[in-house]
Amino acid sequence: MRKIVAGNWKSQKLMDEGLELMRAIAEGLANHPDGDTTVLISPPAPYLALYANELRKTTSSRKLNLSAQQCAAQGFGAFTGEFTAEMLKSAGIQHVLIGHSERRDGFGESNEVVQKKVTRAVSAGLKVILCCGEHLDRRQAGEEEAWVEGQIQSALSDLSPEQIQNHVVIAYEPVWAIGTGETATAQQAQQMHAFIRRLISNITTPEIAKHMPILYGGSCKPSNAQELFAEPDVDGGLIGGASLVAEDFLAIVAASDQA
Ligand code: PEP
Repeated sequence: MRKIVAGNWKSQKLMDEGLELMRAIAEGLANHPDGDTTVLISPPAPYLALYANELRKTTSSRKLNLSAQQCAAQGFGAFTGEFTAEMLKSAGIQHVLIGHSERRDGFGESNEVVQKKVTRAVSAGLKVILCCGEHLDRRQAGEEEAWVEGQIQSALSDLSPEQIQNHVVIAYEPVWAIGTGETATAQQAQQMHAFIRRLISNITTPEIAKHMPILYGGSCKPSNAQELFAEPDVDGGLIGGASLVAEDFLAIVAASDQA
């Protein structure tokens, strides 16, 4: 089953506010136990272990999963302030976002750094949501596919087809659509997602590509989720702003369940 909806809380919410939001989302999922979408949230790192403990207590058959928003490119060592993929795993976290455009643009994460982080996270046994996407000038120049291809080829270059199959989800996030209110049209999203699936097929096998979840991110909200998720290669979403309101996030999950 390819369907995934993942919330990216970014640097938002104090710990108790986040706990309340997480509980509301978990409760909303429990009320729809038959939904077939895998649901994740990515709260700020300092809250993850506590939230993981809290989720362990829930008895609902529909699980809410936790993801980190990034991890270090290094392992253990003298790297003040960094936290490693192994630390996340030991704190009960199974997923990590890597290569978000806000990390690439705001924190100097080059394709090379992203590749190191992906490799470490996979070695630690985490599932990686690998973010990719072009800036507006690349799209205007007709270079969006070449750009995204470069990001994905580089990020996955150290992984075997089996590691990609078991540990990687792709999130296509056109940078011009993130937090701007401007969404890619369903056709633009489908075109890029189909391109990414062909690329994954070339890097791995057609069978692996067929089962690879490819998520769309960029101002996805309840009003446009249904149309985006109706596209054959759009398997769900990575949701920023709308993941901070339980009702909106759950409406997007419902749109995915119904797709
Ligand atoms: C994101 O941060 O990954 C994102 C898609 O944000 P938004 O939904 O707010 O555009």
